[in-house]
Amino acid sequence: MGAAADTAVLGTRDGTPRLCASIPEARVDFIKEAGGFIAVDLRSIAMQGLVASEDLSAIATAKALLYWHSRHRFCANCGAETTNGEAGWRRDCASCGAHHFPRTDPCVIMLAIRGDECVLGRQSRFPPGMWSCLAGFVEPGESLEEAVRRETLEEAGLPTARVRYFASQPWAFPMSMMIGCFAEAASGALKIDEIELEAARWVSRDEARLLLANKHPARQFAPPRIAIAHHLITAFAERGSAVFD
Ligand SMILES: [Zn+2]
Repeated sequence: MGAAADTAVLGTRDGTPRLCASIPEARVDFIKEAGGFIAVDLRSIAMQGLVASEDLSAIATAKALLYWHSRHRFCANCGAETTNGEAGWRRDCASCGAHHFPRTDPCVIMLAIRGDECVLGRQSRFPPGMWSCLAGFVEPGESLEEAVRRETLEEAGLPTARVRYFASQPWAFPMSMMIGCFAEAASGALKIDEIELEAARWVSRDEARLLLANKHPARQFAPPRIAIAHHLITAFAERGSAVFD
């Protein structure tokens, strides 16, 4: 049998409470056989647009919270077993009295730009043909600007100067906050970190438009609209280096 089910309250919609609950793996087939239910993973729900966006964010919250519960069954302070508290938004330790709160991991995702070109990269885990922005976790003690410059230098060997915030996106795979930025590249030579990236290259605004529209002659493409990378690349394709203004 799997671990005990966890639950959390997600607030209300139109006056009706919304709850989420984890289902132990051993019970999934039982529930499917009971009829009236389908099992769909969050990535498919998001990519295929199976629910309205306001429902998608509640489902993403549920996934992040339930994942967090599943990984925090024991107190990080004293090692005793913890219990679900505050309607699923806290874990409590009866042994030492510590309260543990859900965590969000900040992650910068950036588009390095020089004039009418930007840098896109490929990780080996990407679907074949997909090119995206560079990204990485913010380290303790770093500002977002420092994280953008360090990651761009580490992954692509590219120094950057000005950094501009664009937008953010919670990303429940499993519990990150993607912080989208533009970075002004100082020089043109790329030297990739082969552990992090399979490839990186300069892409013109014209080529970026083909990637976004899925009309690239080499059948390459940008991430889908659900991803903040799509919107960073779109802003650059439309406005070029005016994104810094
Ligand atoms: Zn404890």
